[in-house]
Amino acid sequence: MSNEQRVRYNEYSAYLKNKYGEKVYKLPVNLPGTCPNRDGTLGTGGCIFCDEEGAGFECLPSSMDIPRQLEQNKAFFRKRFNARRFFAYFQAFTNTYCDLETFRQNVLAAAAVPDILGISISTRPDCISDAYLDFLKSIKEEKGLDINIELGLQTVNYHTLQRINRGHSLAEFIDAVLRTEKRSIDTVVHLILNLPWDNETDAIESAKVCSVLGVDYVKLHSLYIVKDTLLGQMYKKGEFEVISLDEYIDRVVLFLEYLDPRIVIQRLVGKGPQGSLYFCNWATSWWKIRRRIEEVMAERDTWQGKKFNYTNGAAFRTTSQPE
Ligand code: SF4
Repeated sequence: MSNEQRVRYNEYSAYLKNKYGEKVYKLPVNLPGTCPNRDGTLGTGGCIFCDEEGAGFECLPSSMDIPRQLEQNKAFFRKRFNARRFFAYFQAFTNTYCDLETFRQNVLAAAAVPDILGISISTRPDCISDAYLDFLKSIKEEKGLDINIELGLQTVNYHTLQRINRGHSLAEFIDAVLRTEKRSIDTVVHLILNLPWDNETDAIESAKVCSVLGVDYVKLHSLYIVKDTLLGQMYKKGEFEVISLDEYIDRVVLFLEYLDPRIVIQRLVGKGPQGSLYFCNWATSWWKIRRRIEEVMAERDTWQGKKFNYTNGAAFRTTSQPE
């Protein structure tokens, strides 16, 4: 295969076209909610980078009921992209952080909307349990829906998880992935590869942990520094610096090299929130960063999974031991 022809990473839109024969769009659903890291259960301040929108900055008002939100978003995507089939995307805050009956009603309301072929549920690794997963497994089987759970992890470095005040460590993430996979429900993992206290080793280890756990999708974004957050205050006081764009691109490329090529990259670069920001994507368009990552991979003739060689007794392969 020539350098030009090589597919550099397992890109989501190509995966969707292959799986469904067309591009499938995610319709955000915004529910009134909070998260245990804000309401006092685990803490009150939230993660140090989180603004009050709970990471759902593209959503309609949470006062609208679920079918209306989905229909309104559907009309937009139909008009703009000629879209025909959709995922309902429970995006903001922690969507499993409610009683089981409320959760069931929310999911069933979304599943009943025409042209919804799947449901994506964003949550924290410590807010998903067997009862919720059993319900999701049952509606997946009964209604033939594709279901995935999006888990915010951000980094596998549990010291950094403490510093960013996540309120959970790596173990809760591993537990949530294993329980979800046991029910044949897909997992999506959110990662930030340039958290202030992380380095290249953490990016590599994040790729390795996602790979060996068998997660299905990864979403990357760089660090956004929102004013009126603790992270914003720390940035303003000069308590940390953000790595350069070139260094960040090196980290993303390294991450991809170590990542199992089976894992689909749902997002290589995030667009960043609107509003009051100190820092977002090096003041560069997200698509320029994505293009540069792709260029760097081509220049280095590298690809996702090039260094995925560390499983199943990797040391044996350098000796005469049987694999
Ligand atoms: S878990 Fe999510 S919603 Fe809760 S504080 Fe952290 S980023 Fe915000």
